[in-house]
Amino acid sequence: MKEFWKILVKYVRPYGKYLSWSVLLNMLSAIFNVFSFSLVIPMLQILFKINEAVYTYIPWGDDAFSFKEKLVNNAYYSVTQLVESAGPSATLLILCVALSVMTLLKTACYFGSSAVMIPIRTGVLRDMRMQLYKKILSLPLGFFSQERRGDIIARMTGDVSEVESSIMSSLDMLIKNPILITFYFATLLFISWQLTLFTIAVVPVMAWIMGVIGKQLKRKSLQVQEMWSDTMSQVEETLGGLRVIKAFVAEKKMTGRFADTTDSLRSKSAKVAIRQALAHPMSEFLGTVLIAIVLWFGGTLILGDKAPIDASTFIFYMVILYSILNPLKDFSKATYAIPKGLASMERIDKILDAENPIADHPTPKELDGFKSDITFEGVNFSYEDGKKILQDINFTIEKGKTFAIVGESGAGKSTLVDLIPRFYDVTSGAVKIDGTDIRELRTADLRGLIGYVNQEPILFNDTIFNNIAFGVKGATMEQVIEAAKIANAHEFIMEKEEGYNTNIGDRGTKLSGGQRQRLSIARAVLKNPPILILDEATASLDTESERLVQEALDRLMSSRTTIAIAHRLSTIKNSDEILVMKEGHIVERGRHDQLIAQNGYYKKLNDMQSL
Ligand code: ADP
Repeated sequence: MKEFWKILVKYVRPYGKYLSWSVLLNMLSAIFNVFSFSLVIPMLQILFKINEAVYTYIPWGDDAFSFKEKLVNNAYYSVTQLVESAGPSATLLILCVALSVMTLLKTACYFGSSAVMIPIRTGVLRDMRMQLYKKILSLPLGFFSQERRGDIIARMTGDVSEVESSIMSSLDMLIKNPILITFYFATLLFISWQLTLFTIAVVPVMAWIMGVIGKQLKRKSLQVQEMWSDTMSQVEETLGGLRVIKAFVAEKKMTGRFADTTDSLRSKSAKVAIRQALAHPMSEFLGTVLIAIVLWFGGTLILGDKAPIDASTFIFYMVILYSILNPLKDFSKATYAIPKGLASMERIDKILDAENPIADHPTPKELDGFKSDITFEGVNFSYEDGKKILQDINFTIEKGKTFAIVGESGAGKSTLVDLIPRFYDVTSGAVKIDGTDIRELRTADLRGLIGYVNQEPILFNDTIFNNIAFGVKGATMEQVIEAAKIANAHEFIMEKEEGYNTNIGDRGTKLSGGQRQRLSIARAVLKNPPILILDEATASLDTESERLVQEALDRLMSSRTTIAIAHRLSTIKNSDEILVMKEGHIVERGRHDQLIAQNGYYKKLNDMQSL
């Protein structure tokens, strides 16, 4: 329950205004309800002609009688007056109209109280999704190698909806029901405290029975949500790997794997659902048993000599008692729903509370452009698993120079360049820009200096214009066209029917590999960063595309500091310096001719490629 209140305080606070409205409307609704039901008493008396007593009006100021006595007496007095003057039938009609009007008011308030909850529910849902999305964007890349993407999607969709449907709908119940219960209970006491004492003696037994069924629900729900995550992860993986699955005719295998997951999801959620399904019939049954017991006890009292209330009032009592059962039942529903929601909340919090190790320095140094050099000083690096990936890396890249990194796959080249924009932090040593440790800079400033072109260009399901203008605020069409021209992309873009407004599909699937690469180069051109990182930008292209892309790259690289990871050594012959990496170490360095002359590892790589 403590966790539950914490969630409410955290997410519902901004919507306090709506909460107050809900409380007010619920109170009015309860009051109208009690009064509309109280009209049952005179109606029954008229119909069954059971009240022969003669009433005289007691002035409200008369202190000899209690408020209750005056209220009851004067109400009866008015009704008998009305029966005498207008006749029983007309009185009944007036009472019926009064009943309808009261009920209209009651239901209107009831509707209002539900309606004011809607902005809270939808608002909390949106806030939670926004928080998660922002958090995902702020977390370092390292976080996502541990948490599978499908799992994160499951948390953003399934778990957030679960919180909404269980905790937020319980919130409605938790406001409404205590109010209803209080008012009804007060009415019960007002009518007959003797009968009410008896009633409350029976209730705790029933509550205990309900509680027993509700136990364990949270643990089981947690398992269900985990299975849901697995399911989403598989869907995500399948969508990403459709090409391979089809090529390897692995549909059956994948279907089998998916069937296993969905089967266990099914059996787990069935168990949760059965327990939940038990809640309603169980409370219905227990409620009726309660009514039956009170009916018997109260009936016996009325049949006896010293009846505390008359028969019509007893029926009113029973109606109110019956009304109090619904909110009580809802309470039991909430005790089932809240644990489910809390299980989901726990999973959401795992992302929201994840620490961001790559946080900005509390007092960051100002960065005024890129002036002289980038240095790696005794850099060592391991991923979370602790295996040493980079060891004792030392080098300096001077401004304006072209720097290449070569080595066989797995040598640590990508890892090394990922350290420059602080996608990961060094394990020891330091990466410095103009002599300042990059951990002392604002990450946004640092990354603003760097342009990226990857082996697999990352594009978004949007127009060509927006993909190029991505990351540059308020870019004009002229600037975008200019960048596209430099990137050798303008021509193929103009061949498209809608030109720059062409949508390129999910991740750019409507374009060829070379075209995608040229778009990502145009994007880098437009950003115009002083430092450029090229990660095997031409590796996956055919010769013709490679020529176009290489041309574009050469234009982009001129007048910039470039760090290029190269697969084909022919593309980096003219670099100012080449670092040769092997198993996380720098084994050789120098210009192409020097390295060839050394006749070492680089020469070997070069010879292998010439073959
Ligand atoms: P290269 O770019 O030279 O091919 P990488 O820098 O990609 O090499 O990888 C170097 C080593 O780091 C490889 O052994 C790879 O398995 C490991 N590695 C890469 N990314 C991760 C990661 N996110 N978590 C753990 N190990 C990783």
